[in-house]
Amino acid sequence: MIDVKQALAKIKAKIPKPSMQVVPLKDALGSVLALDVRAPLALPVFDNSAMDGFVLRSKDLLKASQRNKIRLKIVGDICAGDTKERKIKSGEAYRIMTGALIPAGGDTILIKENALVDAGYLVLDAPVQANQHIRRKGEELKRGERVLRKGTLIHPGTMGFMATLGLNRVKVFARPRVSVIATGSELVVPGKALKRGQIYESNSWMVRAALQDMNITPVEVKTVKDNLKTLRQTLKHVLQKSDVVILMGGVSVGEYDYVKTVLEELKVRKIFWRVKQKPGKPVYFGKLKQTLIFGLPGNPASVFTCFYKYVYPALRCMSGFPVAELENQAVTAEQDIGSDAKRTLLLKGKVYTVSGQRRVSALRHQGSHMLSSLCETNAFVVLPPKSRSIRRGDKVQVDLLPFGRTD
Ligand code: AMP
Ligand code: MG
Repeated sequence: MIDVKQALAKIKAKIPKPSMQVVPLKDALGSVLALDVRAPLALPVFDNSAMDGFVLRSKDLLKASQRNKIRLKIVGDICAGDTKERKIKSGEAYRIMTGALIPAGGDTILIKENALVDAGYLVLDAPVQANQHIRRKGEELKRGERVLRKGTLIHPGTMGFMATLGLNRVKVFARPRVSVIATGSELVVPGKALKRGQIYESNSWMVRAALQDMNITPVEVKTVKDNLKTLRQTLKHVLQKSDVVILMGGVSVGEYDYVKTVLEELKVRKIFWRVKQKPGKPVYFGKLKQTLIFGLPGNPASVFTCFYKYVYPALRCMSGFPVAELENQAVTAEQDIGSDAKRTLLLKGKVYTVSGQRRVSALRHQGSHMLSSLCETNAFVVLPPKSRSIRRGDKVQVDLLPFGRTD
């Protein structure tokens, strides 16, 4: 049996190179840029007013004072979006709105709040400095400048930035096509009544949500009974259209655990089965052509743990993220935590911040069949086999999950 580190290394070695795709900007949220982006235009696009007020020629006001008030004729309004070419002559001013083009000759803005208007004239009793409240063309960036690097995540800020550059299509790494199959004859979809011996199917909900959280819409989500024929048919079907297949349940040593049998029949190459860890020991990983196949033990806490520990980094890597694994940190333990002689413990934990110090507490209900603690989990407490038992106040390693604030 291999350990957690070896399992991660084996997965990493089998991940196919991400492919590229051009997508409409609106569909690019959560994707990663596959190419550097250069600015197709300068920003700001043109000299424009940063305030509502009046645009002037500062030269006209050099001699303005309390005793020598200067009157400028207000010759019109310039609104945001006005395209007309204008020129200010000596002795004139325009009323101007935020975002409107600066007319030729205008070199400064007097903000509306500071302006005295009298019978169509602006009255000034002091000079106005040049270059006030004007956003200059290209002051943020020049046309042709590299503004985003390959490997950048497209998040709401990036989205707005690319839109302001006028980009409506972007080259990103393709999102992996993922299928999810839950196995188990005892499973019932939430909303239906349970019969004797049945439970609600929760794993596919959890994994579908985890994928959605990564902006991946699974191509198939299915629940199948523990039946060789249906499992074979379903797998055959999804293998053809998936880059990653996530199977849940049926991968252990039970008489009706058919997953490994069917994968073997379909010529999936087993890379590993079973990892020295708790929970999730019977986790399986294989590959068929370019498709990765994960078999996660069906207990919900095992699915959760194995998903974030193994599937999540694989999907991040395939999506083109430069960093794929969960962020690891040493934080202060809130209680004593015992380790295990043989296996890495991956305990559900909650990391939080007290007076600037990050602490973690291992949550109650660690049983791999228990889900209530998942509502609070935002980290795994990682205890390698035979590691020194942790005392309250000691530092302990945690893997931070991609969701759940720690403050
Ligand atoms: P298995 O790995 O198939 O032996 O399943 C282990 C345990 O997890 C059993 O108690 C199953 O009933 C439970 N289980 C398996 N799959 C699911 C699922 N999709 N939703 C909820 N519980 C499950
Ligand atoms: Mg089962």
